[in-house]
Amino acid sequence: MSLGRDWKMSVLCVVCILAAAFVGSFVASFVASSVAMHTEKDALVAYSNRLLIEDERIASNITDALNEVNASTFPRCSAQELGMMRRLLFRSPFLKDVGRLQNGMLYCSAVGGNLPAPLPSPKPDLVTSGGRRVYYNVPLGSVQGVRAQVVSFRDANVAVDPDAFRNLRRENMYYAGTVNNASTGISLQTFSTFPVEIVPPTHLLSGHSLEKGDVLFVANCSATRPDCVTVGMRLSDIWDSSRKILLCARILGGLAGAYIALSILILLRRQRSMSAQLRRALRRGDLTVVYQPIVNLHSGRTVSAEALVRWSPGGGHAIRPDVFVGLAEEQGFVGEITRYVLKRVIRDTAALLQEFPEFSISVNMSVQDLLNPSFLPAVERMLHRANVNPKSIAFELTERSTDDPERVTKALAALQQNGHAIYIDDFGTGYSSLSYLTQLSVDVLKVDRSFTNTIGTSSVTASIVPQILDMAKTLDLRVVVEGVERKAQMDYLSQAGGELYGQGWYFGRPVPAKNLIQRVRAEAALTR
Ligand code: C2E
Ligand code: MG
Ligand code: MG
Repeated sequence: MSLGRDWKMSVLCVVCILAAAFVGSFVASFVASSVAMHTEKDALVAYSNRLLIEDERIASNITDALNEVNASTFPRCSAQELGMMRRLLFRSPFLKDVGRLQNGMLYCSAVGGNLPAPLPSPKPDLVTSGGRRVYYNVPLGSVQGVRAQVVSFRDANVAVDPDAFRNLRRENMYYAGTVNNASTGISLQTFSTFPVEIVPPTHLLSGHSLEKGDVLFVANCSATRPDCVTVGMRLSDIWDSSRKILLCARILGGLAGAYIALSILILLRRQRSMSAQLRRALRRGDLTVVYQPIVNLHSGRTVSAEALVRWSPGGGHAIRPDVFVGLAEEQGFVGEITRYVLKRVIRDTAALLQEFPEFSISVNMSVQDLLNPSFLPAVERMLHRANVNPKSIAFELTERSTDDPERVTKALAALQQNGHAIYIDDFGTGYSSLSYLTQLSVDVLKVDRSFTNTIGTSSVTASIVPQILDMAKTLDLRVVVEGVERKAQMDYLSQAGGELYGQGWYFGRPVPAKNLIQRVRAEAALTR
């Protein structure tokens, strides 16, 4: 049966780890793809910027050439004018020919010289707002079999190299250029390296991107000219180029997911096994209780002691009580620890408490004990059976655990009515207000040792100690200062006045019951 449960648990753990690995891998892959996509988009934007800068150079080259030919003072198509046009062509890396027109007829060009018969200009594909006529992919009259983009303005035209951007070609990236007429809204594609099956979108706004089909497009337009470029990259190429990174991300994400799941499972298992071990230790009586003296600072007499629980599983390293008590609190069985400690206290010190009725032992309790209706009757039964006066047993409750004020107030009042003194533990670390303390009607404040530590230093919290002492005096509360370790702290506190008690290594470390009993009896013998 238990083997079957173990088997099922193991399968469940493996399923959890695999599921976490799958989720981790999916998340990492999603993040890595987004990063890859962003990176490529940024690369496309940078590419379009680079193309626009080149476009600027080409455009100013065209403008210079057209202006120079239009401003020519040589006789039309004379040897001097052809010489000037050829020099222009020679200087420009982007132009294939420069032509001279009259009334829309081409008479001569730098490459073809004087034409045998003037050539009429065809209908332009686009007229820009500035009056330029643009022809896309037209056969050059001057050179057989060559096509180019032609731009004419007044009586001059230039043939632009269709591959003018050849130096800017990039592997896996395509570009297309358009010229627009803002007034008519007509755009003309003037060059393109996109394969025929990819048609770049014509109305993509500058600075925007678009995923269409298998291609990511980015558009970029010049702020000063009617030119735009659209660049694009196949998504399959993006994934291909980041395949290794995606694979790494998937593997790492999967491993991270599995690691996190495994850590959580180990932690849960450890907690489960720790709480199971603790319950077993409680049943077997493996926990011990030690006692730390609390001393009257004026008389120097040990007037009480705090019971502190100890646990060293399997006789090995001790686990800190706040750790395993906290775990028991979380798992809802801290009451078992409190009753265990109380039983041990009664067993260890009943005789001492009967011998010294003014001496008391304080036991730490949790708010779960306080609100448990069977707690007080159980305490009373135990004390009654051992003939111990309830006055000899005090209870410590941490300031932080005093939430749910109404129920806590009632339960504390019931304990007090039965004769138990109530200590507020670790005072100063919680949020009790003065009025709340009056309402709770506690008997003793235990000032947290973090404040004691600052006595004699320039820390701001040092100034809180006198305030707490003043407040306690006003409320007529006794004060135990926790964590007194040094003589300087002791000297400071003994001058403070009021009914003050101290607990800490300066007076004594927590010790087994027999050492405490010896100490109390020895002190009593001295004063007899
Ligand atoms: P606490 O109730 O505030 O107990 C005082 C802690 O301060 C004890 O630690 C004690 O050993 C330590 N201490 C005393 N004097 C000095 C000193 O001069 N210097 C320093 N550095 N420390 C000093 P311990 O025994 O480790 O207990 C820690 C906490 O665990 C306790 O704080 C209490 O909240 C909890 N605890 C211990 N025993 C029990 C128990 O039986 N039941 C419950 N519910 N909680 C317990
Ligand atoms: Mg305490
Ligand atoms: Mg304390």
